[in-house]
Amino acid sequence: MIIDRNLWRPNWQEGHFPALPCPHCGAPLNVDDDSLVVKSPAHNIGLVDLTDIDNALSQFSFWFVCGYSKCAQAVAVSGSCTYQYAYDHDGKSITERIFHPKAMHPCPPLVKVDDDAPQSIRDALKASFDLFWLDSQACANRLRVVLELILENEGFPATSDDGRFVPLHNRIENWHHLYGALSIAQSLMAIKWLGNVASHETGVSRKRLLDAYEILSRLLKRLFPPDERYIDELADEIVNAKGRSD
Ligand SMILES: [Zn+2]
Repeated sequence: MIIDRNLWRPNWQEGHFPALPCPHCGAPLNVDDDSLVVKSPAHNIGLVDLTDIDNALSQFSFWFVCGYSKCAQAVAVSGSCTYQYAYDHDGKSITERIFHPKAMHPCPPLVKVDDDAPQSIRDALKASFDLFWLDSQACANRLRVVLELILENEGFPATSDDGRFVPLHNRIENWHHLYGALSIAQSLMAIKWLGNVASHETGVSRKRLLDAYEILSRLLKRLFPPDERYIDELADEIVNAKGRSD
């Protein structure tokens, strides 16, 4: 599955909300316009007087509702709202609201997983979807957990038979030596690098997170059930860059 990068953008202009997938059925979500509430704090002088628009900050909430009427799943959304000057259709200067989502519940899925995949892998992925909006580093770390669980499921646990800890890097290499599936090993290594960057450096870019989801999406398709058709050029690119953003 190719991830639509625009769909998962970090902020939304008013009136241009993305049609994210329903967490229950995958159909596009619609905004319930009547549910939008923006609250502005009295202590934020820049906002109250609009004298310092760059520092003006409000909070918002609204509901997404699944567009498939027989599903009608509702998703609660909340986050911060900033302001910028823009021009309307008549060229008149207006103040525009920009929405920065921080939480969604239940969270739209970035990756579809087959029911054959173990529950632990599906649960860790689901947790990563929540973190995607809130904390990109924590999200990358959770994706590394997904990787650990995939390896464990495929017979490469973190602890060897004699009780020794086996580093993630070695477990991926063991996979490669046993199966020789270079593109899968490359995919695993790519996610590992992202996890490393998240743990040891500041910030993981949204682009790299979406790269990781795209790789995972292809990988999970191969493994549950197995499929050898896909080629991971993206994985090669991340491994070569050692997980850092462009
Ligand atoms: Zn739905």
